[in-house]
Amino acid sequence: MTSPIVRFAPSPTGRIHIGNARTALLNYLFARKGNGQFILRYDDTDLERSTRAFADGIAEDLTWLGVHPDLTIRQSERVSLYDEAAERLRGMGRLYPCYETEDELDRRRKRQAARNLPPVYDRAALKMTPEERERFEAEGRKPHWRFLLDHRSVAWHDLVRGPAHVDCASLSDPVLIRADGSYLYTLPSVVDDIATGVTHIIRGEDHVTNTGVQIQLFEVLAGRVPIFGHHNLLTTASGEGLSKRLGHFSLGSLRETGLEPMAAASLAVLVGSSEAIRPIATLEELGSLIQLDRLSRAPAKFDDHELEGLNARLLHGMDYGVAAPRLTAMGIAGGEAFWLAVRGNISRFDAVGQWWNIVNGPMEPVVEDGAFLEAALGALPEEPWSGETWAEWTGSVKATTGRKGKDLFMPLRLALTGLEHGPELKALLPLIGRARATERLKAR
Ligand code: GLU
Repeated sequence: MTSPIVRFAPSPTGRIHIGNARTALLNYLFARKGNGQFILRYDDTDLERSTRAFADGIAEDLTWLGVHPDLTIRQSERVSLYDEAAERLRGMGRLYPCYETEDELDRRRKRQAARNLPPVYDRAALKMTPEERERFEAEGRKPHWRFLLDHRSVAWHDLVRGPAHVDCASLSDPVLIRADGSYLYTLPSVVDDIATGVTHIIRGEDHVTNTGVQIQLFEVLAGRVPIFGHHNLLTTASGEGLSKRLGHFSLGSLRETGLEPMAAASLAVLVGSSEAIRPIATLEELGSLIQLDRLSRAPAKFDDHELEGLNARLLHGMDYGVAAPRLTAMGIAGGEAFWLAVRGNISRFDAVGQWWNIVNGPMEPVVEDGAFLEAALGALPEEPWSGETWAEWTGSVKATTGRKGKDLFMPLRLALTGLEHGPELKALLPLIGRARATERLKAR
């Protein structure tokens, strides 16, 4: 197979959510696996709703996920290509002007509904006489333009769904150009896919009907059709479709909560599969787990709790080599021993800061039983300390005080860390060291 060229084509009318991330990642990982190219294309022909700020935000979100486009293009800068394609379609008799107003179309649809007919555009504009057209123009009406569909079934082999088809005989001829001359999504998308040599179009299954129409456009404009794959969509835990407008699971908000991008990425891609609970450290590994033809066909529920759990597991197993630069950036000098001691007790990376303060101080010891702590201080071994020191020390404190279990351990934990719960003291004690431990046991 030649190298694939794929694209992710958000309209920058809001920030992207986890469902969009699913589309972006399925494309990106597909391209990486096949040594291909990933294009980021902003579908910003809707000039009123698209903004540069949203586009920049989307780029930031993708960078956070680890998705790096090989090429970025903006449809707003490519209108002349769409004009050329529209002209070609007119020349072929496949793009025709229509003068109906929204109201007129609406009335027509109601009449169809009353007669139990589907609300399909009746192609009345094709029967318009030159005089009628002149009259509309004289009234100042501007035409919108529809693509004349071939009334036949369009079939393709879908990368996800297998054999698929759309019956174009039951569709309205789609409007490609609005009365104000601006383009709807359908044509520019095909024109750009052709111009950029896109080989595979992987997108949500909400686009299946568009695919029927767009395959006809590919056929007439390029004589060849890319391969399509339509993945299932994500919903909220209660089954609602994700909405950019409502800000469901926006990547920006997930990032702000300090979530690991790999937790978001792997759940976005693997949600609904048995692999979804497994922490995955790199996009490369994630890519190796994806098989488009094995994606579930049903909508998949994206659940906060699952994401939280996955994030924690990812941190609990994170190698020191991965954590080290981030620890350094936070000014944490505890090295591998510190990371291994605390990683199992955090559900956000930043929480290591709290444990670093506890190890390194200053911190507030909780001293509840002065006499006992004094005895414990007396038994504190000399340094050097190791992973055995805690057992040695508590063994001799037990022997001198007669305490055991929680009565023995809890006052020591409270004095040394100020908290009832935390990493194993066996690992923390050598990090705290004798000087700080002494100070804390004496703090009365
Ligand atoms: N702008 C379209 C969307 O966001 C792109 C669909 C496609 O991938 O062709 O839904």
